[in-house]
Amino acid sequence: MENEFLKGRKILIVEDDLSSRLYLNKILEKARVIIMNAGDGQEAVDVALNNSDIDIILMDIQLPVMDGYSALSKIREVKKDMVIIAQTAYGLLGDKEKILNSGFNDYVIKPILSQNLIDKLIANLKGK
Ligand SMILES: [Mg+2]
Repeated sequence: MENEFLKGRKILIVEDDLSSRLYLNKILEKARVIIMNAGDGQEAVDVALNNSDIDIILMDIQLPVMDGYSALSKIREVKKDMVIIAQTAYGLLGDKEKILNSGFNDYVIKPILSQNLIDKLIANLKGK
């Protein structure tokens, strides 16, 4: 559904699994968010550092080339205040402390429910 708060915000989706990526794109297109995509950790770093107008990054943890933790720390070196939300698989729930201690602002658990994702994005963008 279209969302007044999210409309026109720019989000970078980092996801190597194509069907998951298409699913996230579909949810966010409906919210009228402007979407960029990256398929691995290095690409995420390159896109994040070359586009100054990204509002939020939705980062998968398990990624080829460079994982989500390493990509996060590379981006954080330059963009300390960037909102970066991890996506983690249900089986890796034990990682949530590690995720928050690593400097992610928040996390969503896969499979990602559309309303849950929208709520998380809004909560983390409020006041930005
Ligand atoms: Mg993955």
